[in-house]
Amino acid sequence: MKAIVVGAGIAGLVTARQLGLAGWEVELVEKADGPRRDGYMMDFFGPGLEASERIGLYPRLARMAYPVEAAEYVDAKERVKARLDYDQFARLAGGKVLSLLRPDMERAALAALDDVPAGRVRLRYGTRVTGVSMDGDGVRIDADGPTARLPAADVVIGADGIHSAVRARIFGPETEYLRPLGMRAAAFIVPEAELNARFSGRFILTDSLGRTAGFYSLRTDEVAAFLVYRDPPAGAGRDAATSPRDRLRSEFSGLGTAVDRLLNLCPADPYDDVVAQIVMPRWWKGRAVLVGDACGAVSLLAGQGGSLAIAAGALLGDVLGKAASADGIAPALAEFEREWQPVVAQAQASGRRAASSFLPANRSQRLLRRWVIRATKLPGIDRLVARQLLRSIAK
Ligand SMILES: Cc1cc2nc3c(=O)[nH]c(=O)nc-3n(C[C@H](O)[C@H](O)[C@H](O)COP(=O)(O)OP(=O)(O)OC[C@H]3O[C@@H](n4cnc5c(N)ncnc54)[C@H](O)[C@@H]3O)c2cc1C
Repeated sequence: MKAIVVGAGIAGLVTARQLGLAGWEVELVEKADGPRRDGYMMDFFGPGLEASERIGLYPRLARMAYPVEAAEYVDAKERVKARLDYDQFARLAGGKVLSLLRPDMERAALAALDDVPAGRVRLRYGTRVTGVSMDGDGVRIDADGPTARLPAADVVIGADGIHSAVRARIFGPETEYLRPLGMRAAAFIVPEAELNARFSGRFILTDSLGRTAGFYSLRTDEVAAFLVYRDPPAGAGRDAATSPRDRLRSEFSGLGTAVDRLLNLCPADPYDDVVAQIVMPRWWKGRAVLVGDACGAVSLLAGQGGSLAIAAGALLGDVLGKAASADGIAPALAEFEREWQPVVAQAQASGRRAASSFLPANRSQRLLRRWVIRATKLPGIDRLVARQLLRSIAK
């Protein structure tokens, strides 16, 4: 059996690996020229962590994890206004949590392709898919780059993220499925030895209104920066001529010297995307299926994008991998959708709830956030109570 997987992000790499292990031949195509370096720290827990243990990916991920002591909210003079110890966070998240840089998660999934017998998964970077066509005999893709047209396959898997081209070709335009949450998020990594040494081991977040800058010290002399800000409502668009870097510099001015220094080093075109979810009633049609953010983005506010991408890729790869002929494809895709949709729906609901309190709009909302963080230190305060308190911030 043959599959074409579009997108070598976390979901695409894990799906391709599992199919390869099941004996399938896989063409994995990725528009970037190599593994992407963009992205911030992600909490890794829950279904993805369990799936990574099951498929043998966990040790590779654990080796890349960062030790985190605490998350600290600081003012423009770097005074700590609220602090959440990480063991408390781990308890709220149900025990086991790893802190991983997004590009490291992708690298671990890429390295795990070595577990597949040689030649079964062919990874082609620099290949952007532009078209998908299906008929009774199979599925084909059109692509830019060195690989213009690949041989027909039994299945095409769209693992091409929130702005999926496979989804657009098979299921219709993005506007039908994208649910913006009113914010944008940007992330970049820069060399900054002094800040790296000063803030080592802690997530630093600005205790600001309507926007939040965060940063974390990497093993090298670098610092990973993360910026979340309000997206203007429809009609109140920003100046399209402004470059992403200039836009971030103007949005995040006045948050203190550490943030200014990071913004001075910001690359010209950092990762900067809408914070949104993808909500779709169906994830597969004929011989095409979507996985990861392409069909079920939960947004960074749910804190589980990477984890769910691993779990979904593992499930799809394992279920579809059992199909031994074309007749087995439809039941396998139906099983994947049936099992995984409820998990994604639950994470999306939690992401939408978090959206209402993530960026406090006024001082009283900010005070309440500080209070919630302090309250989690009291014995017996559990996740539910913390969530309820957080929800009340928005009221
Ligand atoms: C550069 C980048 C930085 C990110 N940073 C963060 C972050 O800081 N925090 C956070 O919570 N989430 C971040 N995310 C999102 C996070 O990676 C996902 O939520 C999660 O990992 C789910 O992964 P995925 O594999 O489904 O999708 P993605 O990680 O989006 O991967 C999709 C892949 O498909 C490729 N692709 C897209 N279109 C095509 C096409 N037409 N042809 C071929 N290939 C294509 C993309 O280049 C990408 O490699 C980031 C995503 C990217 C791409």
